Amino acid sequence: MKDRKLLMIPGPIEFTPEVLQAMGLPTTSHLAANFAEVFGQALERLREVFLAPGGCPFVVAGSGTLAMEIAAANLIEPGDRALVVNTGFFSDRYVAILERHGAEVTVVAPPVVGDVPSLEAVEEALKKGPYKLMTITHVDTSTGVIADVRNLAYLGQKYETLVIVDGVCSVGGEELRMEEWGVDLTLTASQKALGVPPGLAIVVAGERAMEAFRKRKTPVRTYYADWTNWLPVMESYLARKPIYFGTPPVNLIWALNVSLGQILAEGLEARWARHRHLSDAFKAGLEAIGLKLVPVSREKAAHTLTTVYYPEGIDARLLGLILEAGIIVASGRHPALGERYFRVGHMGAVTASDILSTLGAIEWALARSGYRFDVGAGLAAAERVLTA
Ligand SMILES: *Cc1c(COP(=O)(O)O)cnc(C)c1O
Repeated sequence: MKDRKLLMIPGPIEFTPEVLQAMGLPTTSHLAANFAEVFGQALERLREVFLAPGGCPFVVAGSGTLAMEIAAANLIEPGDRALVVNTGFFSDRYVAILERHGAEVTVVAPPVVGDVPSLEAVEEALKKGPYKLMTITHVDTSTGVIADVRNLAYLGQKYETLVIVDGVCSVGGEELRMEEWGVDLTLTASQKALGVPPGLAIVVAGERAMEAFRKRKTPVRTYYADWTNWLPVMESYLARKPIYFGTPPVNLIWALNVSLGQILAEGLEARWARHRHLSDAFKAGLEAIGLKLVPVSREKAAHTLTTVYYPEGIDARLLGLILEAGIIVASGRHPALGERYFRVGHMGAVTASDILSTLGAIEWALARSGYRFDVGAGLAAAERVLTA
């Protein structure tokens, strides 16, 4: 019997063999010419994947939370006002980060957890500005909710507010057109839809964000995150000239370049469509056996993960049974929802057979837990979507 489990959590995800091979290459000097070529190419490919040809890419060792902090640290000065469009746990985290850097934060919250604040509510708040910046969590991984970045960014531009998108669970999986939509800074981490092991904080900043940074009157209050230190490094690697500020995670950057190459080879449109298709099939399968999604509607549900309530009479012990069936899924992560729901990630290299295996394991675990349903109905519903 195989003892390998299928990892279906919202990050880290399963990585392609080519990406994992890059992790195992002999580590070169960070100043070697062949590494400068790889780093430079990865930075160029980030501009392509973020659809920000004029953007300034930053790749720094750290997790997604560092990427959030890099944006706040470099753009906020004490006393600046910031608006947070709240869709869950990671938006709450952004409030804490912005406040730590001295911002006065206003939050626009949705009517209920699982929903998104309306465009009208966000516009009302923006009218009471000016705000230095607004943050949008594209996909909030705690609620599984997707925000309408395109229309929110339009509002941000209308009210001359920098638009910051936390794309940690979206970039590489959900449609996001940074320059076309007027997003000023997009941030992500390696281990989610970009398909690279954890350890990279990734930021692409547009011209307006860089201008706001250059106009600062006070120094950035963290040394490690300061663009004053990182901008020359990124510019230099883009020119294939290695220089040192802090040792870059050589193998991770090698792996990033491989994964970005795979993303571009698949094509962004095709990749977004694959995520939508597999997500639709998975959600249809869960709904067919009577389970209820956390997002208030399908339109507000992300395609990179699914958040779903346990049915009546079933609790978090279900996850142990799903694991016995060979699949690792994740518990809930939103304080207001507690242990009432679980989360399944399906992004990156995910395939239709992963979706069907996971659904099969969930059905098996539910049947073993005494939940009464038409066994197989979920798989059939998913297959209908997959073959449509
Ligand atoms: C995972 C996640 C983060 C945090 O990333 P870490 O790498 O765990 O620090 C931030 N925002 C969103 C939307 C996420 O999904």
